[in-house]
Amino acid sequence: MKALSIRQPWAWLIVNGYKDIENRSWATRYRGPVLIHAAKGMTRAEYEDGQELARHLGITLPAFNELERGGIVGQAEITDCVSDSSSPWFFGKFGFVLANASPCAFQSCVGRLGFFKPDLEPQREELAPNTSPSTPRPAIEAPAMKTMTLDEFRDALKAQGVPRDHFAFRCPRCKTIQSANDLIAAGAGEDFEAVERYLGFSCVGRFTGADDPSKTKPGCNWTLGGLFQIHELEVVTEDGIHHPRFSPATPDEAQAHQAASA
Ligand SMILES: [Zn+2]
Repeated sequence: MKALSIRQPWAWLIVNGYKDIENRSWATRYRGPVLIHAAKGMTRAEYEDGQELARHLGITLPAFNELERGGIVGQAEITDCVSDSSSPWFFGKFGFVLANASPCAFQSCVGRLGFFKPDLEPQREELAPNTSPSTPRPAIEAPAMKTMTLDEFRDALKAQGVPRDHFAFRCPRCKTIQSANDLIAAGAGEDFEAVERYLGFSCVGRFTGADDPSKTKPGCNWTLGGLFQIHELEVVTEDGIHHPRFSPATPDEAQAHQAASA
């Protein structure tokens, strides 16, 4: 059976029958059963994102560490592929409509992009050293991702040589350079402390309404921790947790941006 790799907590929400749409940037003509693979990676931000929406819909998620990852967790049936839906789980661009979902006993396997045929191996083989000569294929858990420690991240911001209100980040989606100053101007909050949670995480366009058809404002409605993993940087804190962040702008970009907003 085909499998589809989905990040947690969304995979759990699907196999337990709550989430009836799986969003993708691509459409499918496939209709029929599909194994649901829970991807290995899950950031705290992704978990909290899912938890917030689940809570809003009256669903209680298992704890962060209780969500099974890196294997098959259940199955569902794809009954349609839509570009519009009233489901609270629909975000687009395309929604795979799901029915008859059910969880199963966890079976460890590597996930891949798109539909894939899972290599389901006996559990004991995982304990032995991997001497298999098979060609490595790109796994969905290992995107080309830049990582920085928190200190490196802070140093990159300090190197911009601007006050903290003007620390500049680049949205990975629309590439707009933006700062706390822009978020404050867009009405996201009154001061640095109030907008800090969005800084380098949610595009300023979310607050200016930039994704409306008028397209007269900079930015887009992107926020990290959603379903589409296009971010380019993860900041790794001492506890080993990866936090997706917009990449800091270069010192030249940051200083030019500050000058332009003065
Ligand atoms: Zn953006």
